[in-house]
Amino acid sequence: MSVRQNQQPQTALVDRYGRSVTYLRVSVTDRCDLRCVYCMAENMSFLPRRDLLTLEELDRLCSAFVDRGVRKLRITGGEPLVRKNIIWLFQALSRHLQSGRLDELTLTTNGSQLKRFAADLKNAGVERINVSLDTLQPDRFRAITRWGDLATVMRGLDAADAAGLKVKINAVALKGTNEDEIDDLIRFSHDRGYDITFIETMPLGEIDGGRLDQYLPLSIVRARLLDRWTLDDIDHNSGGPARYVRVRETGGRLGFITPMTHNFCESCNRVRVTCTGTLYMCLGQEDAVDLREPLRAGASDAALQAAIDEGMLLKPKGHDFVIDRGANRPALSRHMSVTGG
Ligand code: SAM
Ligand code: SF4
Repeated sequence: MSVRQNQQPQTALVDRYGRSVTYLRVSVTDRCDLRCVYCMAENMSFLPRRDLLTLEELDRLCSAFVDRGVRKLRITGGEPLVRKNIIWLFQALSRHLQSGRLDELTLTTNGSQLKRFAADLKNAGVERINVSLDTLQPDRFRAITRWGDLATVMRGLDAADAAGLKVKINAVALKGTNEDEIDDLIRFSHDRGYDITFIETMPLGEIDGGRLDQYLPLSIVRARLLDRWTLDDIDHNSGGPARYVRVRETGGRLGFITPMTHNFCESCNRVRVTCTGTLYMCLGQEDAVDLREPLRAGASDAALQAAIDEGMLLKPKGHDFVIDRGANRPALSRHMSVTGG
């Protein structure tokens, strides 16, 4: 496969509110080998393969954003590591790390395929990865993911450690499901030298069962933690929306992503591209620009950039997620696995 070379400097991406966009999240597939209860229904219908951007189209698109000053690329999904030949994309994009135009190439994964791919990812220039893990109990893991095997993910984490990848654990805080495991997850992560971040469930996509049953505000989690741990505020910024503290007893870092209880839109530096090439300016809004059409119509670089600029004008000031009894339905019909978490 040929790799496009375009080294022309271009103007930075800045939205109407003066926020610079330097971080792109790209979903490379809507498919997944798990069916987490907060993310997907058990019977999902997936997109026809022809609708998905090819790996070459994904490379061109990501590179167009790098041309405009994007410094951090996160590959996500669905499960990115189930996309056939996905390592090719990491290898292709690594040229931007080598040229110094990209600071970070990373991914978010459920860990199920990590044993197979950890070394290849590291060799392609990936330094840090996010692994989603909501429980350390095998039965509970099976219940949350419907299809998953905890031991497989643990072997994946061992492979990541052996390859020298830095791991951050992402755990969704789920009412009545893993709220009694928050301490164990912190201890496990910090013992292994990992950061851990807790996330509030967001109302994205139809799932089986109600969102209200799952939603656990992190303000409550944090208040409970203070009974047992000393949390020191720190300045650490991983380039994403998490706010971090250091747990004095373990020395490890703990992050909170609170889209529901604390909106972090004022400092948002991100946009997202779906696996079909739709550019979303916000996880919680419908405004979007289709980039697949120009890509497939053989658009010039300038025309592709013009479509990206159109998107910048649509970036909203903020999202307005609400989970309440009167609105026990998704704020958006789009699943997180489509937009990319
Ligand atoms: N399959 C990969 C994984 O699970 O890490 C990457 C995609 S997944 C959609 C990315 C992240 O989104 C995961 O950490 C997952 O827990 C989180 N997620 C999925 N649905 C969510 C929801 N409704 N609210 C909050 N987080 C969600
Ligand atoms: Fe798959 Fe990730 Fe969604 Fe779980 S959270 S179903 S692993 S895409």
